[in-house]
Amino acid sequence: MNLDRTICALATAPGEGGIAVVRVSGAEAYPIVEKVFRPIHRSRSLAQAKGYTAMLGHYLLDGREMDETIALCFRAPHSYTGEDVIELSVHGGSAMADGLLQALYLAGAAPASAGEFTRRAVENGRMSLTQAEAVMEIISASGRQGAALAKAALDGALARRIGTIRAELQSVAAHLVAWVDYPEEDVPDLSVGALTARLGEQKAALEELIAGYGAGAVLRHGVDCVLLGRPNVGKSTLLNLLAGFDRAIVTPVAGTTRDVVEQAVMLGEIRLNLFDTAGVRDVGADGDAIEAEGIRRSWNKLEEAGLVLAVFDAGAPLTEDDLEIAARCKGRPALAIFNKQDLVAEDAALQAEMDKVRDCFKQVLPLCARERESLKPLTQAVAELLGTAHLDPGAACLCSARQLAAAKAARDALAEAIESQEQGFGLDAAGVCIDDALRALAELTGEDPTEATLDEVFSKFCVGK
Ligand code: GDP
Repeated sequence: MNLDRTICALATAPGEGGIAVVRVSGAEAYPIVEKVFRPIHRSRSLAQAKGYTAMLGHYLLDGREMDETIALCFRAPHSYTGEDVIELSVHGGSAMADGLLQALYLAGAAPASAGEFTRRAVENGRMSLTQAEAVMEIISASGRQGAALAKAALDGALARRIGTIRAELQSVAAHLVAWVDYPEEDVPDLSVGALTARLGEQKAALEELIAGYGAGAVLRHGVDCVLLGRPNVGKSTLLNLLAGFDRAIVTPVAGTTRDVVEQAVMLGEIRLNLFDTAGVRDVGADGDAIEAEGIRRSWNKLEEAGLVLAVFDAGAPLTEDDLEIAARCKGRPALAIFNKQDLVAEDAALQAEMDKVRDCFKQVLPLCARERESLKPLTQAVAELLGTAHLDPGAACLCSARQLAAAKAARDALAEAIESQEQGFGLDAAGVCIDDALRALAELTGEDPTEATLDEVFSKFCVGK
């Protein structure tokens, strides 16, 4: 990565908006921007501007005064990247920002590559790699809780958590070295039981982080959700309830929802990417080909979905089709919804029907999709099922597949260390495994990251961040 270049890029989302911000960073930021920025008060100059100050002016393109521009000045090292940075705000929409970028290129700035501002922040020691990953997660978070989780990572919650685990492992490793290499010294005895207990504690801490990854990812990115059920059980009504308006057409005629309708809705803190599917039922050889295609697709979606909402008619006994749907949900993150609760005459009968499919689902919930109040128990049930209900948004959380892989490698190395002791191998065997675990943890927090790791992390960033 060439840190000598001064880079620029649009930092706000492209498209129409109140303002657009172009960010410039690098050693030449001030001389370059001076060429294109003319202050309103001619006596002032950007070169003299202190950090954390703003200046009003216009930008120039080919000598012509273009848009009114506010320059927000940061001086190295007190900036996002740790370099001299100027953020230039112009009117939103792409025309003015494009013109400004053009002017900056002509003045000698280079277009930034994806994530280059944040990468510079990492390379200049302004933030850790895990914090950089958190920045990306904040940008892409769909709900407040997800953003809060990413913010906790940015504040260093994960780095601190990993730091504690590493400190403990380092202390164990030091003890092992002392015990193995300096037997003549008075090193306190290290029993196999005490050693495996200490390692077990750190392994459990890693397990907890690993277990929380899925729920954290759900909060940050949402979950693909498939709606399943026979025709007329109320899938479209449920979709409308979730969407808050009449998105799908609800009719009392069986089989009118033929296609997979995709829509994203927020259910509490979770974004559901919804697929409303054609009524799932047995279609014979002379059945409707389009509907058959819809059903095939819904089965496919079932395999991939992070959440399955299977809808049954609470007002009628379960049919063979219902039971097949239930069977296909077994072992999946699936919630059974017994809809049309209002039509149930006898609660015991409903309980008996629910009992028939209970072992195929993580949860079974009777409700009335026509009523808005049903959203509350549904939200709660989904949050419980996906493990987000009790997630502390301030807690440490792994926030990328890369971090997850490193945490798993560290956990596996500790498992191996423990196993080596239980099987009676020498202490040095445990020492080797603990070193492996420490290496994996260093990789997790991004100490001395390799160029390849940096490339991988930042390739997923957007330009301008
Ligand atoms: P889909 O074919 O599964 O999409 O079913 P629809 O959503 O089109 O609903 C079929 C019929 O059931 C419609 O007439 C709905 O108004 C009705 N329905 C849906 N939910 C409820 C409910 O909770 N209670 C009652 N009584 N009827 C419902």
